[in-house]
Amino acid sequence: MPAPYPWLSQTWTRLLAMRQRLPHAVLLAGPQGVGKLELAKGWAQSLLCEQPRPDNEACGECEGCHWFAAGTHPDFMHLTLLEKETKEGEVRQATEISVEQARQAVDFVQLSTYRAGSRLVLVEPAEALNTASANALLKVLEEPPINTVFILVSHQPRQLLPTILSRCHKLEIGLPDQASMQTWLRQNGLDEQALAWGSGAPLAALEAREEGELEIRAEMLGALGKAESLDCVALAETWNKRLPARVWHRASYKWLLDLLACRLGGKAGFNPDYAAALAKLAKRVNVANLLDFIRRESEAGRWVDHPLNRQMAMEAWLIEYSRIFEGAGK
Ligand SMILES: [Zn+2]
Repeated sequence: MPAPYPWLSQTWTRLLAMRQRLPHAVLLAGPQGVGKLELAKGWAQSLLCEQPRPDNEACGECEGCHWFAAGTHPDFMHLTLLEKETKEGEVRQATEISVEQARQAVDFVQLSTYRAGSRLVLVEPAEALNTASANALLKVLEEPPINTVFILVSHQPRQLLPTILSRCHKLEIGLPDQASMQTWLRQNGLDEQALAWGSGAPLAALEAREEGELEIRAEMLGALGKAESLDCVALAETWNKRLPARVWHRASYKWLLDLLACRLGGKAGFNPDYAAALAKLAKRVNVANLLDFIRRESEAGRWVDHPLNRQMAMEAWLIEYSRIFEGAGK
């Protein structure tokens, strides 16, 4: 089985070559949306494959490969954020990997391997380890049982404990260059604008397209471009009915960042197709107000989970937005 995405082929070859001399822990670090998780899973499968090809790629046919594909390989553990149902019946994702989960992983690596091969623990996202769970894992990272490999995946490796980092063989995965993803983008119906929206990360662009985020963006930005004539109450009501809150929050936040970039003489990185509207608005924007707004928005995001407050929060956002312009609100 080849590299999960064309732009990962070099890192893929390096990972496959490690089979001869496996590190105890490997950290795959890089921005969101470049395929680190798929890379980690693909490599895990290759290590659990019982009849690997000469280049160490998984065969896709042996029992190990079948179990892996079915998500039931007994020598593989995926430590990740669990989903829980709240009292209100909403499914929420945990924000941390708990110490109980970490202890289960420690117990797991101390068992003898089921298939007499490697035993793998995938920790993703590794920055979700809290101090207690990181410390619990540290014990086995320091002296791992034989044939055990920890694969850590992180968008924010700086948030990892230095003691964890120092025990990992780190592979940096950057944003792919244009040439290595051109064909893939075309095959997936993505253009330059979609890629800009995904901050240059192809899988972020794909996800945005699949969630209809690009159309939602267009609907929102058309209105935000006419800052002087916003009907905040009516707009919040319409948006609350039509737009998923998360997408709304992302789109509104990126719009503010683009506005700031234009005000400071830069380019609209996320919305280059709205460059003209942004440039016009940027001339009237009060930088202090905008910075303050952005700072508070970056800390927000939690309210989007509370459906009762959504419309009010959108309305408040729109009112505040209309006030970041010079001469507004008087
Ligand atoms: Zn196989």
